[in-house]
Amino acid sequence: MKRNILDAHMHLPYDCKSFADKRSTLLKEMQTNQITKGIVISDSSLESTIGSLQECVELFAHDEHIAIVGGISPFFTYEKQLRLLEKYLQEKRVVGIKLFCGHEQFYLYDERLLPVYDLARTYQVPILYHSEGHTSPYACLASTQMAVKQHPDITFVCCHCHYPDVADCFAAYEDTTNMIFDMSSLADQWIYLPSMKKEIEKFLYKHPNRIMFGSDYAGCNQLDHLQFALSLAMDEQTKNKLLYETACKVYKI
Ligand SMILES: [Zn+2]
Repeated sequence: MKRNILDAHMHLPYDCKSFADKRSTLLKEMQTNQITKGIVISDSSLESTIGSLQECVELFAHDEHIAIVGGISPFFTYEKQLRLLEKYLQEKRVVGIKLFCGHEQFYLYDERLLPVYDLARTYQVPILYHSEGHTSPYACLASTQMAVKQHPDITFVCCHCHYPDVADCFAAYEDTTNMIFDMSSLADQWIYLPSMKKEIEKFLYKHPNRIMFGSDYAGCNQLDHLQFALSLAMDEQTKNKLLYETACKVYKI
């Protein structure tokens, strides 16, 4: 029987001429790797090679197997983007909100983000955030943990598990039940460490409902990430959760 696989972290490829080309390249890659569903995360800026919120929503409007997570930033026409995001949330055309702390210079606990957290609370969607180890104060554990504690009623998705500090990340959030992880980008050749595999296996064994498969395509290789996920030591039930079921629950798709 064919396995259901959901890539919970994708972006539009940047090396295509048009948005139509980006869409078909992404869909073709999913088909090649036998990925059944996917989450495409838009940029927070309005002019981006990976597409703005509006561009991503419109581009995949008729692709039932693609759901959109909308990026937003206090730095880019914030009020207008908040209104657009709310409209898409009402219409259920967006299934989550992404904050690019680390890529952008704001902390997750920045008070300017309160309207974003209000949207997540009202429309019951998760807040995804970019995480790093110690390379950026905006994306490190110390700062993200403060925000997560402030909003126990919101589900957070930690993208990249604060690599390379994956062990610290899992230890810090072990008891934080409103935190889910996506393992995107960890299998990248510049990032991967054998210890990460062990840490993920250990955490999944204890918390099979809290990690989602994701690749960070097109910045990272989708097949490498899928093979990495499939190589993890886990039982069949956990594998289904990691590859598909947890993301379906988190994003309600
Ligand atoms: Zn990404």
